[in-house]
Amino acid sequence: MSDIRLYMFSCGTLKTITASIKMNQGNEPYEIPVPWFLITHPKGNVVIDGGNAAEVATKPRGHWGDVCDVYEPVMREDEACLSQLASLGIDPASVRYVLQSHLHLDHTGAIGRFSNATHLVQRAEYEYAFTPDWFAAGGYIRPDFDRPGLKWHFLDDKFDDHYDLYGDGVIRTIFTPGHAPGHQSFLITLPRSGPMLLTIDAAYTTDHWDEKALPGFLASTVDTVRSVRKLRALAEKTGAAVVTGHDPVAWPTFKHAPEFYD
Ligand SMILES: [Zn+2]
Repeated sequence: MSDIRLYMFSCGTLKTITASIKMNQGNEPYEIPVPWFLITHPKGNVVIDGGNAAEVATKPRGHWGDVCDVYEPVMREDEACLSQLASLGIDPASVRYVLQSHLHLDHTGAIGRFSNATHLVQRAEYEYAFTPDWFAAGGYIRPDFDRPGLKWHFLDDKFDDHYDLYGDGVIRTIFTPGHAPGHQSFLITLPRSGPMLLTIDAAYTTDHWDEKALPGFLASTVDTVRSVRKLRALAEKTGAAVVTGHDPVAWPTFKHAPEFYD
């Protein structure tokens, strides 16, 4: 049996420009972390997102194609999620769930890497990933999620909102569309540290959270803005600590694996 703990990892960085992250805010270089998470739990370990696919470390352009012109991955082989979990002594077979915030290419690194895992995703996101609109197509790398033999569990937007994974209030999904049509965030409630809200890409940075900037990429502006509102209300109600999705300023302020929150 393992204690309930939240570990924070990053899968290297992406080199881009400010406008890719904050709409219309310039072309100077901007480098963002690629976070992902592990929650150890007595009912089975849970990976959230898993960063980039391992292949990105060795052949970035072969795996991602022209996306590398806009988001250049900086990733070592030992930053892939399996390698990082191995260095922490986590048995891959102990991972019972892989939770997907959405299916963009910097969040799909855990899919199909854990033989016992059920993959939880919003149905709307899964369907969109196979049939994206032209402007979003580069963000979805089909070999990452169109793999044989995967176990999927689909959540249906508002009907499954605040889905409680283990029924004990520790891991909840929060439907936050906008950045992607089926995006979800996660509210993790820890025994000692209390609630932590992983916005993932519903808010890349504190500027998005504070309603000072729109993200440089989104599927729906209105949904993006309203999902931030929804998360802000939730954070206020629960007193949750807020962990933004790709925030070069806030990310270094959190404890990173092998340190953890419990
Ligand atoms: Zn994304």
